[in-house]
Amino acid sequence: MLWSLLKILVFVAIVALLAFGFGILMETAGGVQITVAGTEYTLSALQSVLALGVLVVLVWVFFKLLSLLIATLKFLNGDETAISRYFDKGREQKGYQALSDGLMALASGEGRLALAKASRAARYLDNPQLTDLLTAQAAEMAGDSPKAAEAYKRLLANQNTRFVGVRGIMKQKLSEGDSETALQLAEKALALRPKHEEVQDTLLQLQARAEDWAGARKTLSTKLKTGTLPRDVFKRRDAVLALSASQGVAEEGASLEQREQAIEANRLSPDLVPAAAMAARAYLEQGKKRPAIKVLKKAWEAQPHPDLAHVFAAVEPDESAAARVKRFEQLARLKPKDDETRLIMAELHIVAEDFPEARRSLGDLLERAPDARALTLMAAIEKGEGAEDAITQAWLARALSAPRGPQWLCDNCNHIHAEWAPVCEHCTSFDTLSWQRPETPELTGVTAAYMLPLITGAGASTAVDLAEEEIGEAEVIEADDGFEDAEVASQSAVAERVAGK
Ligand SMILES: [Zn+2]
Repeated sequence: MLWSLLKILVFVAIVALLAFGFGILMETAGGVQITVAGTEYTLSALQSVLALGVLVVLVWVFFKLLSLLIATLKFLNGDETAISRYFDKGREQKGYQALSDGLMALASGEGRLALAKASRAARYLDNPQLTDLLTAQAAEMAGDSPKAAEAYKRLLANQNTRFVGVRGIMKQKLSEGDSETALQLAEKALALRPKHEEVQDTLLQLQARAEDWAGARKTLSTKLKTGTLPRDVFKRRDAVLALSASQGVAEEGASLEQREQAIEANRLSPDLVPAAAMAARAYLEQGKKRPAIKVLKKAWEAQPHPDLAHVFAAVEPDESAAARVKRFEQLARLKPKDDETRLIMAELHIVAEDFPEARRSLGDLLERAPDARALTLMAAIEKGEGAEDAITQAWLARALSAPRGPQWLCDNCNHIHAEWAPVCEHCTSFDTLSWQRPETPELTGVTAAYMLPLITGAGASTAVDLAEEEIGEAEVIEADDGFEDAEVASQSAVAERVAGK
């Protein structure tokens, strides 16, 4: 009510103002003088205002005619809908309606409907960027990947939508499992948008999977530069990549460059166990014992690990068992209460035949976390102290069905790896492996437990004797082919030694 009253008042005020304006114009003396081809026209104030109005109308008509002319030219050039579009402005409205309906359908998860709306919008609108984008998304949702691929290819042609097209095709190739093409597309996409985090991560993952370590390190520094990766994580991942490039240092044919990569990886991230082990090996190959020991101690302080112990043992390969125990004290002092320290020291004391000290080294480990390794060592200690066979066999039986202790575990998918790797072999995530106890212990040992009477029984004694001759007592810590083999060797060596007597 009040609103309509206000509108009437405003209307009356405008009419009054116009009448007042005309009155002033009529009364104003003088005007505009225009000279055209020698003839002089004098326009009064009112006339000049009217003339200005006419001029505006003429200009408008001129532009209308110009756009009709352009539409005709387009039609002649092959754009069939140009003229009909010119005359049918309603088309545009219908097109945008279809486009917004399509977006709505996309948002509500109706792929087929969105696809239909997209093709309708494409028919009415001359805006391929927008309609192709909708078509691609709708086709993806509806599971029509050939159609989506077509739309993405059309998007490639335009500078503005090129990135969307490349990224779309890249994702399609990824889901098809064609990682080689996906890698090339990811490189192209990153060149177009260096700050795009998802593309950065995809490229990094693909490069790591393809073992292109140099390329991956470049991508990683792009991530640091564009601010999508904090500096400390960058350092750690850069170390992982340097380490991956250096793999094979333990082998004899390792190049000088590989050795330097291992040492650099260790410098970048001193806590990274495999890098420290690799760097220490590289130093040992060059005959540099001091830096090797330093690197190992530094890493042991952060994370005691069997791999480090094995390299530490390799520093003095020919020392006596007692000397080795004494030398390992340096390492043990750094983390005296750690499980790995306890296990390694117990193993070394067993080798040195100091069984009471071995038992003391294990401490409360058997109550706290009785894994296969601790239980096997306990069987060896009992045997060494002259316990009855039944007792040692009971320990061994427990060991066979016990969990295996810490492993390289993927934080992402919990897959267990026999050896450290930069990329998870199950879910292919990058740098997700950490050394920890699996939450769900494997039960592979259970069948082995049933076999125990066969292994320890009288019938097996000849085979065990043979094995015993081959596996010397000092073998426990000298099995050098990586941790897995070493652990198995040490367990079976101890088990066989115990069982054989
Ligand atoms: Zn994984």
